[in-house]
Amino acid sequence: MELFAVPELPEIREGDDLAAMIADRVDLRPDDVVCVASTVVSKAEGRAADLEDFPAAPRAKEIARNLEDISGEEKDPRFAQAVLEESTDVVMEAPFILTETRFGHVGVNAGIDRSNVPEHDLLLLPKRPGESAERIHESLPESPPVIVSDTSGRSFRHGQRAVAIGWAGMPASRDWRGETDRDGHELQVTVESVVDELAGAANLVSGEGDDGTPVVIVRDWEFGDHGGSDNMFREMRGDFVRQALRDWEYEG
Ligand code: GDP
Ligand code: MN
Ligand code: MN
Repeated sequence: MELFAVPELPEIREGDDLAAMIADRVDLRPDDVVCVASTVVSKAEGRAADLEDFPAAPRAKEIARNLEDISGEEKDPRFAQAVLEESTDVVMEAPFILTETRFGHVGVNAGIDRSNVPEHDLLLLPKRPGESAERIHESLPESPPVIVSDTSGRSFRHGQRAVAIGWAGMPASRDWRGETDRDGHELQVTVESVVDELAGAANLVSGEGDDGTPVVIVRDWEFGDHGGSDNMFREMRGDFVRQALRDWEYEG
């Protein structure tokens, strides 16, 4: 397996055809996996925005005021408003805003970025990253699988890493259940989230700063002979950590 960045991509602007830009720079193979940082998908889809687009309603003002009290730093209520407008559910509102986005991903600040956005204050995540991945997948020569990723923090562990927020042309997970380990024991629970693993590997190459390498090709990796599933985002009913958070409040 090998990973390499698509070279010499320019600053991406609204309306840019990412698939064409990738195809111009790499001879793709059908079994490549094309990993695209959500930031450039957002830019191409015109998801840059400004704080003035989000006049703060009372709820956003209250959240921002609370965060200000906790952190001692100034918090713009318009940012909280943008987060709320991108979200269907607030999981935590302090000491940071953790929400479920409209497409099901749970992330801090609804994944809104304030870095790598020239001429604007904010970059919102793609509206429907699964559909974005599908469009790129269908437009690329050889139609390789496509993963749209975002850097995200983790509960329980320090450090950030990329996760897949949209994918097309491959299942999200490979299912090892029913297969055997080296001792002949049958695996009961292992469903491996390969799109997250590939997104994480690609992020090692794409970087987080000014590298300018938002698209990474994974070559010579095989999904193998496994069942697959696209179940990625837990539902509230089976998400016990999230249920526990429902009754939790930050106390400093
Ligand atoms: P995120 O993880 O999707 O939020 O994206 P990051 O802000 O971490 O950026 C991922 C990679 O894409 C880094 O190498 C950035 O330098 C690069 N990048 C971001 N925007 C652009 C762009 O418009 N053009 C190019 N060529 N690279 C970009
Ligand atoms: Mn991001
Ligand atoms: Mn990143």
